[in-house]
Amino acid sequence: MNINIIGGGPAGLYFAILMKKADPSSRISVYERSAPDATWGWGVVFSDKTLSYLRDNDEPTYRGITETFETWDNVDVVHRGEKITIRGNKFSGIARLRLLNILQARAAELGVEAHYGVEIDDPERLREGADLLVGADGVNSVVRARYADAFRPSLDVRSNRYIWYGTEQLFHGLTLTFRENEAGVFAAHSYKFSEQYSTFIVECDPETWDRAGFADRTNREAREYLAGVFGDDLRGHPLLSNNSKWINFVLVKNGSWRHENVVLLGDSLHTAHFSIGSGTKLALEDSIALAKAFRETSGVPEALEAFERDRRPIIEEYQEAALESMVWFENARRYVHLDPLPFAYSLMTRSKRIDHDNLKRRDPAFIAAYEAAAGAK
Ligand SMILES: Cc1cc2nc3c(=O)[nH]c(=O)nc-3n(C[C@H](O)[C@H](O)[C@H](O)COP(=O)(O)OP(=O)(O)OC[C@H]3O[C@@H](n4cnc5c(N)ncnc54)[C@H](O)[C@@H]3O)c2cc1C
Repeated sequence: MNINIIGGGPAGLYFAILMKKADPSSRISVYERSAPDATWGWGVVFSDKTLSYLRDNDEPTYRGITETFETWDNVDVVHRGEKITIRGNKFSGIARLRLLNILQARAAELGVEAHYGVEIDDPERLREGADLLVGADGVNSVVRARYADAFRPSLDVRSNRYIWYGTEQLFHGLTLTFRENEAGVFAAHSYKFSEQYSTFIVECDPETWDRAGFADRTNREAREYLAGVFGDDLRGHPLLSNNSKWINFVLVKNGSWRHENVVLLGDSLHTAHFSIGSGTKLALEDSIALAKAFRETSGVPEALEAFERDRRPIIEEYQEAALESMVWFENARRYVHLDPLPFAYSLMTRSKRIDHDNLKRRDPAFIAAYEAAAGAK
């Protein structure tokens, strides 16, 4: 097969690896606008379950990734300066750049042709002459835009703003910190992803953003302001920028996932709010599902049809959970009147995937404390 892939993120690279492994005679080319050592963002988290999927599909990448993982089982919720720890939530963190380097090296070893520093403006050029064109080009996909009539995308730009920083303050566990000031409510999603760094994503609603005057602040001023808001949590460490900018989360869905010999993968196909920490996992699992569809069918149309049929219900379920979670953060202001324990409980049960009984199994001590506090009122 002759496969062109636009986008050398987790989805594009992992799909290239799996297809090249399955058939070394295939010609697989990846086109990526950035250099191999350039990336946005800091660390990403995985839920524990992804790992077995990775091991079953490609042992070397699985090993490379897990050897560098930071793992933990606690979510810490900080509200009114009090930290509530909830155990039994297994997560792992890795630097996005490290993850990409592992995938890039494996792709090169297998003979995938990767072209870095190449921006694709017109995907049609890469579709012609290829058996398959994969749009793994992220949330602002040119492939999705080029064939929009066929994909019928819906792009829901959400109201909250967020910005993705790093810091040398190490947060052991997924730490969700809420701080209020005269402008409003700020939430930080943070976790350690290496010996040296943590990811630190700050999110706030549009009213808070306006009142804090971010429209008139430079990137540096915004960073300093937020380092002040979270001063007690950062313990004097600055916030670090890596091309960090304010963004509105875009909820991406597509009416159709395929068009002739073109298919979308990862964030170009669907997004799930970062508060459930599963975008990278979903991107990798998409690649696994598409490669499997090629293994189990003969012909491109059949494989793309099987991919959409089998994968769509799983993605829709994730997007539903992620939506609940995102809406909770958009309305954080409504919950901050709660004391730290009920606040943490509300936060933990926000996506409805974790209910009271489930939380009790994960951390009986947390539920006992929550019930005792509720009973004492
Ligand atoms: C703030 C934030 C925090 C997140 N935290 C987490 C987390 O903790 N855990 C998690 O699992 N996920 C997280 N995610 C989501 C995760 O980053 C994405 O879901 C994941 O990267 C999707 O992988 P992808 O390969 O589909 O797309 P991307 O990683 O976006 O890769 C797409 C690639 O395509 C390239 N490209 C785009 N257009 C072109 C073009 N025209 N020509 C050439 N190249 C092009 C881009 O340079 C990029 O390298 C987070 C996202 C955000 C925004």
